[in-house]
Amino acid sequence: MPASDCIFCKIIAGKIPSKKIFEDSKVIGILDINPISEGHTLVIPKKHYETIDGVPDGEMGAIFGAVKKVVLKLRAKLEPDGFSVIQNNNEAAGQAIPHFHIHVIPRKEGDDLFALNPGQPASDEQLDELVQKLED
Ligand code: 5GP
Ligand code: ZN
Repeated sequence: MPASDCIFCKIIAGKIPSKKIFEDSKVIGILDINPISEGHTLVIPKKHYETIDGVPDGEMGAIFGAVKKVVLKLRAKLEPDGFSVIQNNNEAAGQAIPHFHIHVIPRKEGDDLFALNPGQPASDEQLDELVQKLED
């Protein structure tokens, strides 16, 4: 998708309204329009990168620094019990908007929103095989 068709690029350019709770020179933090909890925020680099693969190394620190600032703000003001920080890449992973972004989701004790439940146990051999496959 060209950046000119991108909803988040349009938000960053001020062509589509948003509820901004954070901004610095490289990143914005806006409230999600379909929040799954109070304070659900999207942290978005101002430059258009589709997935994490395309984000320059130098920019990642700024983006995660912004995530931390948003967490600190939400924690202080909304007092949730915890946070999930989630980042989807590609349609298969549920990425609906192909402009890299990080979800900051305040959590409450027992909110039952979702959990990363453990899968099936892997054998030592299976894990060793995978380590080998992933060697440089
Ligand atoms: P993804 O599934 O790509 O990780 O997440 C996209 C998120 O963007 C969804 O949670 C969705 O609610 C949110 N979203 C979609 N369109 C807009 C919009 O126009 N403004 C805002 N603030 N959020 C949006
Ligand atoms: Zn974009």
